Amino acid sequence: MRRVYGSFDLVAVHHARNVLASEGIGAVVRNEILSSAAGELPPADCQIELWVLSDADAPRAEALLRFESDVPEGSVAPWRCDRCGEESEAQFTQCWQCGLVRQP
Ligand SMILES: [Zn+2]
Repeated sequence: MRRVYGSFDLVAVHHARNVLASEGIGAVVRNEILSSAAGELPPADCQIELWVLSDADAPRAEALLRFESDVPEGSVAPWRCDRCGEESEAQFTQCWQCGLVRQP
């Protein structure tokens, strides 16, 4: 088993599992009971997790789920801020240093 996805959003995790199921990849949701028992946002170490049953499916599962996420295509590389020159990870739409919004 290998972890391929984690989120605090139960709906998102179940959606991810459905995406994998539609591709014939078996996966299980973990920490679901833990987080719902808390009655509020779970702490960082009890993210709801999605694990594929077969390690061999993990690369394909990760590719599918990356496609499902909202990260636009072609923005996986870090980008450099025009104003202060700081490098930010692709998933950030604003410079972490000075707050400049990334230009497309
Ligand atoms: Zn900046």
